[in-house]
Amino acid sequence: MGSVGDFVKVMSMPCKEHAAIISRLTSEPGAYSGGMRAGLWLHERVCTGCKAYHRQLTTLRRGFEAWAGAESVGMGAGNGRCPEGVVRRIRERVGRG
Ligand SMILES: [Zn+2]
Repeated sequence: MGSVGDFVKVMSMPCKEHAAIISRLTSEPGAYSGGMRAGLWLHERVCTGCKAYHRQLTTLRRGFEAWAGAESVGMGAGNGRCPEGVVRRIRERVGRG
């Protein structure tokens, strides 16, 4: 069972290595086996440092994706995907103020 081996391996790794795995997982959720992810999940339950790091990365990534999404849609495209408040604020800035 490779999964169980990965689970044990990830549990015995130093936090520095967990950080690298967490970082990769936020951009590539399928990069590691289920055993690795389960081991990491369990480690985060007991390690506040890794838990905080993971939460921080997830928050950053969500923010980036929201920003990148708005950017690719294009301002004023009229498809409703750009947050209304953002468009309004930009219009207030660039429009007649
Ligand atoms: Zn840790």
